[in-house]
Amino acid sequence: MTTADQLRLRIREIPDYPKPGILFKDITPLLGDPAAWRVACEAMSTPWQGAGITHVVAVESRGFLFGGAIADRLGAGLVPVRKPGKLPYDRSREEYALEYGTDALEMHVDAVGPGARVLIVDDVLATGGTAAATLRLVERHGAEVVGCGFLIELSFLGGRAALGRRVERVIEY
Ligand code: AMP
Repeated sequence: MTTADQLRLRIREIPDYPKPGILFKDITPLLGDPAAWRVACEAMSTPWQGAGITHVVAVESRGFLFGGAIADRLGAGLVPVRKPGKLPYDRSREEYALEYGTDALEMHVDAVGPGARVLIVDDVLATGGTAAATLRLVERHGAEVVGCGFLIELSFLGGRAALGRRVERVIEY
């Protein structure tokens, strides 16, 4: 059995959550299984060893879980990208389109800058809107986005094309 197949057994699918038509990938069984959690963090880190990553930019909130573990493994700093109103210091904001309306993400203005080589991390790549907004936020500050890493890619939604960067994921649906 491949690593991806092992981890897939620890992902629970919840139909119509948080709204009708969404098949939610619940990763909490994976997080709670010591062996699976370690394997997932290793599998998300390994492709980026040697890529000169200086900062892992993790997206609220499930991205934080993996971001911390991956940054530690890569010897990189950790930067939280958060929903509006959560960061205490001066912030940059990037808005992005949702199915209905818009949402926004914020990052501290001094979090990354020229010379930084960034890996963006989240749990799931769906349409790519969240990661693309994070990418714009990081690049606005002169940092380079080397790539994006996810535990899960919902490849039928085509999010990878929205990023135009190296994308690595462990499990594909
Ligand atoms: P997107 O911006 O469409 O790529 O959506 C990515 C964000 O939404 C990530 O932060 C995911 O945690 C969350 N997400 C999207 N679709 C799902 C899904 N089917 N199951 C769990 N989380 C999802």
